[in-house]
Amino acid sequence: MNRKKQHAPLKYFQVKNNILQIGDQSLTRLISTIGRTPFYAYDRNVITEKVTHLRKLLPDGIKLHYAMKANPMPEIVQHMAGLVDGLGVASAGELEVALTTATKPYNISFAGPGKREEELSYAIRAGIIINMESEREMRTIAEIASQSGIKAKVAIRVNPDFELKLSGMKMGGRATQFGVDAERVPELLKQLDRFGLDFYGFHIFSGSQNLLSEAIIEAHNKTIDLALQLSEHAPGMIRLLNIGGGFGIPYFPGDEYLDVAPIADNLKNLLPAITNKLPDAEVVIELGRYFVGEAGIYVCQILDKKVSRGQVFLITDGGLHHHLAASGNFGQVIRKNYPVAIGNRMENTDQEVVNIVGPLCTPLDTLADKMLLPKANAGDYVVVFQSGAYGFTASPTAFLSHPNAVEVLV
Ligand SMILES: *Cc1c(COP(=O)(O)O)cnc(C)c1O
Repeated sequence: MNRKKQHAPLKYFQVKNNILQIGDQSLTRLISTIGRTPFYAYDRNVITEKVTHLRKLLPDGIKLHYAMKANPMPEIVQHMAGLVDGLGVASAGELEVALTTATKPYNISFAGPGKREEELSYAIRAGIIINMESEREMRTIAEIASQSGIKAKVAIRVNPDFELKLSGMKMGGRATQFGVDAERVPELLKQLDRFGLDFYGFHIFSGSQNLLSEAIIEAHNKTIDLALQLSEHAPGMIRLLNIGGGFGIPYFPGDEYLDVAPIADNLKNLLPAITNKLPDAEVVIELGRYFVGEAGIYVCQILDKKVSRGQVFLITDGGLHHHLAASGNFGQVIRKNYPVAIGNRMENTDQEVVNIVGPLCTPLDTLADKMLLPKANAGDYVVVFQSGAYGFTASPTAFLSHPNAVEVLV
C-alpha cells in the first residue's frame, strides 16, 4: 500500500463552526480574551484525563510523579500536584515551584547532573529526596548535611547497563553525564552509612519519547532486575524505586499512540516480586511528556503571505524562539512536521500546500514544511498541536528579541 503517512488523530480537540475548540470555548474567543498572539494554551481537562486514564489501568502499588521540566508553568504544576503522588524537579527553580504545592517534601525528588551547592543546600533543608548523580555529589551532600545538622534524604540515580530500545532520546546504557554507572553503584552503597545519609533507593530512567509498549515493558523488566540486584548491596531497606518516565506521544506522520494497557499489566505482574524482596519500596513512574504534551497548543497569527518560486509561505508572529521543538531543532535528526492546523478554518476544503515560518532571520524558523492545509491569509491563526511538553521553556526565547509568548491554562 502506498498511502501517505498521516498524523495520528487528535483525540482531545473538537471543532465547531469551522473553529477549533479548547477547553469549553472557541479558539477565537480565547484569542480575544488573551488579547494577543502568540500564546500557549493548555487544557486542564486533557491533563486530568491523561492522568486518570493511566491511573485506572495501573495496579494500586504504582505511584505517579510528574516530571516538572516537561512543563513547569506554576498553574500546571499546581493542577498536577492535585492529581499525582509526587513531583520530580531538576533545579532549585523548579523546586521552589514544587514547594508552593501541597506535595509532601518526601514525595519530591531532585535529579540532574551538576547540582550547585546552593541547590543541594536548599533541597536538604526542604527535606526532599536528592537523586545523587555522582560520587562527588554524594560527598558534597554529606558535607552540607553535617554542617546543617540535617540528615539528607538521598537516592542514587543509576545509569543502567541497558538502553531503552527505539527511544527518541536515549538516557542510559552508554557513557553519559546522567547517574552513576550501574557497575559502580555497589561501591557507592558501601559508603552511604559512613557519610550519614538517609538512603531511600534508586532512580533508573532509561529514555524519553517511546511509543512502543514492548520496548517500555522490556525496559521496566530490566530496570526491576537491576534494582533488585543493586538492593542486595544497600545499607538498609529500599523505600523508593523510581523507574523513570519516557512514555511517548505521537508527533509526526506515521507515529501511533502508545498502548499503555500492556505496560500496566506488566507492572501488575512485576509488583509481587518487588514487594516480596523489597516490602517497603514505593514504586514510582515519573512522567512528563505523556501527561501534558497533548494538552497544549501553540497559537500564532499569520502576518504575511507570499509566494517564492512557486511555493507559498505563511509568515507568522510565532516561531522557533517560542517553539523550538516544532521547528525540528530540539533533538530531531530529520525534521518532520508537528500536527498543524489553521485554527479558524478547520473544515475548509479549499486547500493548498504551504510552508509556515516565523519572523526570525534563519531558515531553521519553520513550523510547517510543505503541508496541505486549508487556504489561509494574513490575520488567520496557525495552531501547532502536541505542544504541552518541552515547548515554551525548551525554546530560545531571547533569540532576536521578539515579544515573548504568553501561557494560559484553560
Ligand atoms: C525528564 C525526566 C523524566 C520524564 O521524562 P518524560 O520523557 O517527559 O516522561 C523522568 N525522570 C527524569 C530523571 C527526567 O530527567
